[in-house]
Amino acid sequence: MDENEAFEYVKSTLKKEKITPYHSDELEIVKSIGACINCGLCINHCPVVAAVGLDRFSGPRSIAVELSRSPPEFWATADKVYLCTGCGTCREVCPKNVNIPEIVNVVRANIFEHRPDLVPKGLMIVKEIIEEHNLAFEPWEDKEEKEESRDMRLERLGLPYIPDIVKENAEVLFYPGCQAEERAQEVREAAKTILDFFDVDYTLLDEFSCCSLPSQLMGDAKTARNLAHLLKGKVKKLGVKKIVTTCAGCTSTLADLSVRDEWGAPAYHLLEYLVEEIGFEKLADALKKTAKPNDVHVSVHDPCHLIRHTSRQVMEHALNILRLMPGVRVSESVAHDNCCGGGGMVSFHSSEVANSVVKENMMALEKTGTERLVTPCPLCTAQLESNLFKSGSSIEVDDLTVFIAQRLPKKG
Ligand code: SF4
Ligand code: SF4
Repeated sequence: MDENEAFEYVKSTLKKEKITPYHSDELEIVKSIGACINCGLCINHCPVVAAVGLDRFSGPRSIAVELSRSPPEFWATADKVYLCTGCGTCREVCPKNVNIPEIVNVVRANIFEHRPDLVPKGLMIVKEIIEEHNLAFEPWEDKEEKEESRDMRLERLGLPYIPDIVKENAEVLFYPGCQAEERAQEVREAAKTILDFFDVDYTLLDEFSCCSLPSQLMGDAKTARNLAHLLKGKVKKLGVKKIVTTCAGCTSTLADLSVRDEWGAPAYHLLEYLVEEIGFEKLADALKKTAKPNDVHVSVHDPCHLIRHTSRQVMEHALNILRLMPGVRVSESVAHDNCCGGGGMVSFHSSEVANSVVKENMMALEKTGTERLVTPCPLCTAQLESNLFKSGSSIEVDDLTVFIAQRLPKKG
């Protein structure tokens, strides 16, 4: 009997008691609870606690300290674990490296398996969409309407349309992520413009499918595994050497999966790819000839999935690329690396909590006097844009991929 067979056997014997044995990787995460020294540092840094108070969200220490280590008692935590945005700030400040965001995922997976009635309804709606379409958002019903929406966005932004390319054995798979595939189509098209400008040999997927992060975050481990397996098969069939994405969540997920499941193709955020593979010299050369040299004062938002789940270096790359752009002045907001509230699927079921979290970012942003906010993630862009708009702010928001594409000269 191999390790997996043994796991399934033990699992079946415990099913009646609604107990799931931990996988070996989960065991390491759960054991980290034992390292907690109850110092409370994490509470002071949790953006959800700061936004809604301990009465509404009892915070990371509570998850680490009070959580019973017996899975059936996880049900009692259902009111708190779904309000964590998974930003990773608690893990970053914890002196004992307690991995709260991963503990939250393990708990959510147990609740999902044994007490799906406790999973917020908003998440169950997303689950059904994923099951039906392999996408986290309802796809457009009418293909022509989708194309019209894309073309209107491109016209407004002054970006060209480059027809999709799907082919085997390209160097790079460009993977837009669900948000850019179905909603923020301008980000998908802007990335294609950039890749085309630098003559990158790239392909898209023949049929797009989700990276699995939304399923992981809602605790639907089985669907997450299936989606990861499906995508791995597509990557292998295409025979690409690298994966490039413009979404922060997809970057951290694909980077982990490609190592864990041996995809044979490392994943990069487009910013990493531009700096590490194209190089500053070529970038500087192109951006010097910018067709849009108007002076603009920008501020930057750092997506949690890049700085705390991938590497802070990605945002160093972002700043260095912005510094290459003539006429672009960057001011740092004191809340540049605060969670925008859009993570952990919180906005899908408790948007009032997600919108409270982003308020601190907005107040700090107004103090910079900036006219535009840029961020390299279409989900952060949407969360920040809708809240700034609702507040009556004059600050406009751009996905950084769009901002870069707009500042490249026409390909000659
Ligand atoms: S991951 Fe972020 S939101 Fe969740 S408990 Fe930690 S600090 Fe709070
Ligand atoms: S910072 Fe770490 S050690 Fe301190 S209370 Fe939070 S989880 Fe426990």
